[in-house]
Amino acid sequence: MSEWVRVYQAANSLEAHAIKGALEVSGIKVQLKGEALAGALGELPANAIEVTLHVRPKDITQSQLILTRYQQEPRPDWYCSHCGEHNAGSFELCWQCGQDAKVLQSEES
Ligand SMILES: [Zn+2]
Repeated sequence: MSEWVRVYQAANSLEAHAIKGALEVSGIKVQLKGEALAGALGELPANAIEVTLHVRPKDITQSQLILTRYQQEPRPDWYCSHCGEHNAGSFELCWQCGQDAKVLQSEES
């Protein structure tokens, strides 16, 4: 018997696939449900459909650990590529000069 248990409800298909990937690298088989419905309806944008993730009962405990980590994962602290200021992970812009956190340091000076 292959029995699938719902472990997570993703807000959209993108999130569902991100989490599916995180689970699969840990060797957990994942089924997404909800996407077929989205395709059948046709009219709704993909991100309006809630997708649920299902795993085998033996994988529930590990899945929940991974999900918890996924949801709580703190963003790492970072150093501004412009002024070198240390910023907490919750900042998206450098508090000192306003540089975007996503601009990575290209070369060491
Ligand atoms: Zn800065």
